[in-house]
This record gives sequence, C-alpha cells and structure tokens, in this order.
Amino acid sequence: MKVKLISTNQEKDPYPVMPIGMCLVGEAARKAGHQVEMYDMTFQKKQHCISQWVETPHDVIGISMRNLDNCDALFSTSFIPGVKKIIADIRGRSSAPLVLGGAAMGVAPQALLREVGADYGIVGEGEVAFVELLKHLDSGDDPSAARGVISLKTKEPYRQIEGLDMRENVWARIGDRFSVKPFLNYEGVYPLQSKRGCALKCVYCTYVNIEGKKYRLRDPKDIIEEITDIRDRYNVREFEFVDSTFNLPARHAMRLCREIARSQLKVSFFGSNINPIHLESGLPEEMVRAGFRSITCTAESASDRVLEGMRKGFKRQQVVQMAKQFQQAGLRVFWMFLMGGPGEKQDTVEETLEFIHRETGTRDVALVIYGMRIYPNTGMETIALSEGLIQKSEELLWPVFYMSPDLDHGWLKKRINQAIREDPRIFTSNQTQSAFIPFAQRALSWMKVERPYWRFLPMINRVMNFYAN
Ligand code: SF4
Repeated sequence: MKVKLISTNQEKDPYPVMPIGMCLVGEAARKAGHQVEMYDMTFQKKQHCISQWVETPHDVIGISMRNLDNCDALFSTSFIPGVKKIIADIRGRSSAPLVLGGAAMGVAPQALLREVGADYGIVGEGEVAFVELLKHLDSGDDPSAARGVISLKTKEPYRQIEGLDMRENVWARIGDRFSVKPFLNYEGVYPLQSKRGCALKCVYCTYVNIEGKKYRLRDPKDIIEEITDIRDRYNVREFEFVDSTFNLPARHAMRLCREIARSQLKVSFFGSNINPIHLESGLPEEMVRAGFRSITCTAESASDRVLEGMRKGFKRQQVVQMAKQFQQAGLRVFWMFLMGGPGEKQDTVEETLEFIHRETGTRDVALVIYGMRIYPNTGMETIALSEGLIQKSEELLWPVFYMSPDLDHGWLKKRINQAIREDPRIFTSNQTQSAFIPFAQRALSWMKVERPYWRFLPMINRVMNFYAN
C-alpha cells in the first residue's frame, strides 16, 4: 500500500525532538513491503506543506501525535486544536482512511480519536499494530478488527498487542528520512532507546499506559551497532537515551555502559532519566567512561512525605546519595522538581529547596514545575477524584492540573521567585520560554560550543534578575 505518515509535533521547548516514533512505525511498514513517505512538521509551516503532501497518490494517512499538551501549568498549551486543524485540512483534500497514532493516543485513546476526528487509532506500540491495520485495509477487512487498532465503535478493554520484542533490530533510521542538522542546531540530540516499559508506579505517569509495565531490553551490541551506523552515515556525535529510566534495570545499564566504553565510539551521551531507586555504585563512573556528559533526574521532590504521595518508590536519602554519586563522578545533573503534588505543604517545599541549595552540584541546574497534569487512567486521576477536584465524567483531554489543597499558590510563586533570585541555578518555564533561548541555542551550536547548553541557564537567570531589580 502507499502510506503517508505525518508527525505533527512542533514543540521546540526545551529543544526540538526528532520524530523517532513515526520513523520506527514507518520503518516497520516499509519492511512489511509498503511504500512509505514521511513528513515531519517540526520546522514546517503546516498549511503550505499539507496541501503538497496529500497531492501525490496514497491509500492511507497516518498522523502521529506526541503529546496532548505541554504539561506546563504556567504556559499551558494544548496540541489538540493544531492536530484537529491538520486533520480537517487533510479531509478536504483526501478521502483515504486517517489513522491517529503516537504517544498521545496511549493516554486517552477513544476520547482523543473522537475529538480530532480520525477514522482509526493505534493503541500502544505502532510497529506491529499499524502493519496489522495495513494488512486488514489491503485485504478489505475491517481495520478496527486488528489488534492494537480502535475505531469510535471499539469498546474497552481494547485488544492490545504484546509489547514489541526489543531484542529484534528496531532502528528508527531517522537520518534516512530527514536531515538531522536542523535539530542538532537547536541543541537537539539523536534519540535512542535502550529499552521500553517501566515497572514503577509514579501517580502522575502515563508511561506505563504507553509502553507497559514490563521492561523489554535491547541487546547492547545491537545498540552499539546502531550508534556506529548513525555516527558514520549522518555524522552525529551526540545522543540521548530516551528511556523511561536509563539506570533500571540496573544490570542492563551497567552492561550497556561497559560495552559502549569498550567500543571506543568517540561520541557523547546526554539526558537519560536516572532514578535513585537503584543506582548501582559505580554506574556514574561507568557512564562517564561511556561518554555521558550530563544527565537528567526527575526526582520530583526531596521530601519523604511528597515522594510517598507521588508513589515514587524512593526516599529523600536516596536522592541525596544520588546527588553525591554524580558529583563525585563529575557529571552535571539537570534536576526536575514538581511542586504541589499530593501531601505538599510549605515545609515540604522548603525541604526540596534546601536540597537544591545544599546537596546538588554547583554545575547542576534545577527546573521547578508548578502543579501536576492530571492524566486519565493514572493514580493522579484517582487522587483528584477522591479529593473532589475533578468529576468522574471528565475525560482529561484538556489540561487540568493538580495542586495540593494544603498549599497557598500565591505563596508558592513568591517563594520560588525568591529562590531563583537567591540561587540562579533554579528556574521555571518562565525562563525557558524566553524568546532569547532559541537564538542562544543556534549561536552556541554555530560556534561549536560544547553541550549541554542548559548549563548557561544560571547566567541567563542572573541577567534577568539584574533587569528585574
Ligand atoms: S519512573 Fe518515570 S516512567 Fe516510570 S512510572 Fe515513574 S515517572 Fe513514569
């Protein structure tokens, strides 16, 4: 079949993200014998490009939607209207079946399908389900009978596919489809997965609804082959593991780092969510040897009460220990903290701020996020329902945030602003939304300044503080 796939994500904060999901699905469809064309809207003006894309012959159009919204209570933006508009534009030019996929579909499948007006939706991983859908379409069968595919008539529970066996070769080959240069110019890095799934139970998280609870691990040798291929063919030197948690399961992370170090790849790694729940002693050093230059840590809080309320599965002491381990290894950390979760009060906010001031490295930064997005089918939804913050009938497609009822919101904002003035390593989306950031990213990239560029955020904060005073 002739297949067109469109990635609708245009978000560039904190940096543009390569369309790895769409490329993986497109690659699976190509391997199954279909003709696949892919379009990425990250740097496109949509009206203009869609009319061109749908002019050439096609049998089916797949639309990929990464997120429902930007998950930011300060500058909340829903991506649903944009996707609705794209679908309406395509409908005006094509009568082919429209299939909605992407991570957003795993969050609120039926409600999203109805809202945006697509014909079919892919629930869960698309590599198998989308190919099954194509098979059904090709043979004239009802596509919604395929596993992992829904239509507006499908009733829950959905017939999901078993998670993809990650021991098979699953390369996205993004650079074969798109130029990766524009992404790299904005501090984007090449995304890799070393596994899928997450066995943890954080109350706000949708990850397990998207990738499942069971870890499915890639063979380190296959990952190294993929990195070598990307490095040599697309001239990429910087990568990011976009796993749920890079260091879990612990043995796999350790083995991967050791094998990368042994392979002498001469590339760098960034990001990777590191979880304090089981940080093997020696892993930070192995990561440095493998070429990691910085990591992200979604600790979310440094208060035991709030960590328990979020069901993070670790305690403050483990976060403190982790901060020490990474400082000793010489790795910069980009910390993320959610303020206002279940159990949050003034004293727990102070505990977290005190942790940032005292325990994090001098070269680290800390992003503070206000409130927690309440997503459907999460523990957060259950808590919000029990506290009467939302109604059972709410589908939660549009941004709704949880903020602890024991916290004065006005006080929190003032306190965070004061903390930023006292310690410029702390910032909120107020700073990352600055129009200056994309220019700075491009200029630094052009000057070939070593990444990560977020290390300059404290400097930007100092300048903003200076002009604010
Ligand atoms: S560790 Fe991360 S991916 Fe796993 S449940 Fe918690 S927030 Fe979600």
